Amino acid sequence: MESLRTPPFEAPLVRRLIEQGIRDPRVLAAFGRVPRRFFVPDDAQPYAEGDHPLEIGYGQTISQPYIVAAMTEALDLRPGDRVLEVGTGSGYQTAVLAELLPLGTTIRTVELVPELSARAERTLRELGYENVLFRVGDGSKGWPEEAPFDAILVAAAPEEVPSALLEQLAPGGRLVIPVGPDPEHQELQLWRKLPGSGLLDRKVLMHVRFVPLRGPVPLH
Ligand code: SAH
Repeated sequence: MESLRTPPFEAPLVRRLIEQGIRDPRVLAAFGRVPRRFFVPDDAQPYAEGDHPLEIGYGQTISQPYIVAAMTEALDLRPGDRVLEVGTGSGYQTAVLAELLPLGTTIRTVELVPELSARAERTLRELGYENVLFRVGDGSKGWPEEAPFDAILVAAAPEEVPSALLEQLAPGGRLVIPVGPDPEHQELQLWRKLPGSGLLDRKVLMHVRFVPLRGPVPLH
């Protein structure tokens, strides 16, 4: 169904991201190619083009485009990167990541709620994204069999950065993650594992509001 993905779909969204300070042309182009309405449930369709998070069921949300863009930009993806996403949600962020990597690159994404994972998988297949591997489970443990990763993006906030994710970073690897005890006190952090020394460098990017990164038992 390649025709569903013939750009440009999202020119107003891209213009808004530019106004909001997103600069990386590759990131902007990727946003132009992902039709956000496909990731938004029917009852929220009138708001699909807006710059806010939206409910996607199971108490979860699809993030605000600006935040997805800022996280993606911070991840600084390069061709050949091995990528892990934690918190698949609607799959919107997954699609943006897929747009940024050369065709055929595999992305791995972990989601705790089986229904969300299955729906995201359907949406991405329908839109023609291949090479995304979906896993249902607790993403705070990462995906050890496939580590290390050059880029890890986490879309739900733990109180502290899970050590497994830092361990699974490759030398030079980046981890973008919201961290904090509650939505009022969360910051978006960018961690980098320095090549050579393996030391970790941490930068705080901005204040954010994410759903909590939960334990292994789904809430329903
Ligand atoms: N980026 C997503 C939004 C994700 S919302 C999008 O674009 O739609 C955060 C997601 O993280 C939710 O779907 C939630 O179920 C999931 N989540 C929460 N705790 C998790 C965990 N421990 N492991 C994996 N996924 C988790």
